[in-house]
Amino acid sequence: MRILLSGAAGFIASHLLDRLLGDGHEIVGLDNLLSGSMRNIAHLEGHPAFTFVQRDVSQPFTVEGHFDAVLHLASPASPKDYLDYPIETLLVGSVGTRNMLEVAVANGARFLLTSTSECYGDPAEHPQRETYWGNVNPVGPRSCYDESKRFAEAITMAYHRRHGLRTRIARIFNTYGPRMKLNDGRVVPAFLDQALRGTPITVFGDGSQTRSFCYVSDLVDGLIRLLHSQESYPVNLGNPHELTMREFAEYIQEMTGTVSKIVYHPLPEDDPKRRQPDITKAQQLLGWEPKVALRDGLRETIAYFQTSPELVQTNS
Ligand code: UDP
Repeated sequence: MRILLSGAAGFIASHLLDRLLGDGHEIVGLDNLLSGSMRNIAHLEGHPAFTFVQRDVSQPFTVEGHFDAVLHLASPASPKDYLDYPIETLLVGSVGTRNMLEVAVANGARFLLTSTSECYGDPAEHPQRETYWGNVNPVGPRSCYDESKRFAEAITMAYHRRHGLRTRIARIFNTYGPRMKLNDGRVVPAFLDQALRGTPITVFGDGSQTRSFCYVSDLVDGLIRLLHSQESYPVNLGNPHELTMREFAEYIQEMTGTVSKIVYHPLPEDDPKRRQPDITKAQQLLGWEPKVALRDGLRETIAYFQTSPELVQTNS
């Protein structure tokens, strides 16, 4: 296939690119580098099947040639990034999604949207199934991300219904692995950064809130299966192994053997209290479930961060 992919320099997209190129596809990758990094795709420079174009998909754009698939991954995704760029986040989920859908219509291409577990907001149902409509504060600090992705899902379904477009929607739960930004504020890089430096591990609130972490190679496998499926309604992709943030901090302490102590900071506004995917639909429809254990995934992630320029610079 010839594929158009937005957000190409992002954490998840860069892993998806590696997999798609390995499978023999040709890819044009777009990114405005607002939160993505060229470091994530530096190894693809000169790859004969990959072209990178620096472009903001929220602005009108044209791309040359025919595409068989259009994958829309572009968006700030960490709370720190989308709180820093709320308007850009709303625009890439709304106008950016529409622009990518128009390319898919013009090409008769299949379309994949990477949506998020944030569509469920601070969920009143646990674990979260795809049929749950969510509990989102429409005007809170996280609304720029949550509502942008909810709009992205709605317009994707509208294009599916109006144009008969073959659309796919992945609701991605917390994902981690190499190529995350050490300083993007998310809990996996934050705790690992602190543990590796020996500075205090900052648990927000009392640490009783939960998350479930999926290793990036598992997630990419789920995305590829979804792309090739016939399912137009959203599918949860995530690891159901649920931990409190206090348990996670203690796990990182034990795993890294750090001298870092746990300290408690205020809980950010609207921080979801519990999050765990129900992946029954992905299991039944895609034959998919995560395979990488937390310990193994964290080991790979730690190895990556240990060579990260940010960590090396401040430690030397
Ligand atoms: N968190 C924390 N300490 C940190 C960063 C995050 O305790 O230094 C908590 C945060 O409050 C949330 C969870 O870890 O409950 C996951 O946060 P993250 O920013 O990774 O993503 P989210 O799932 O909230 O989008």
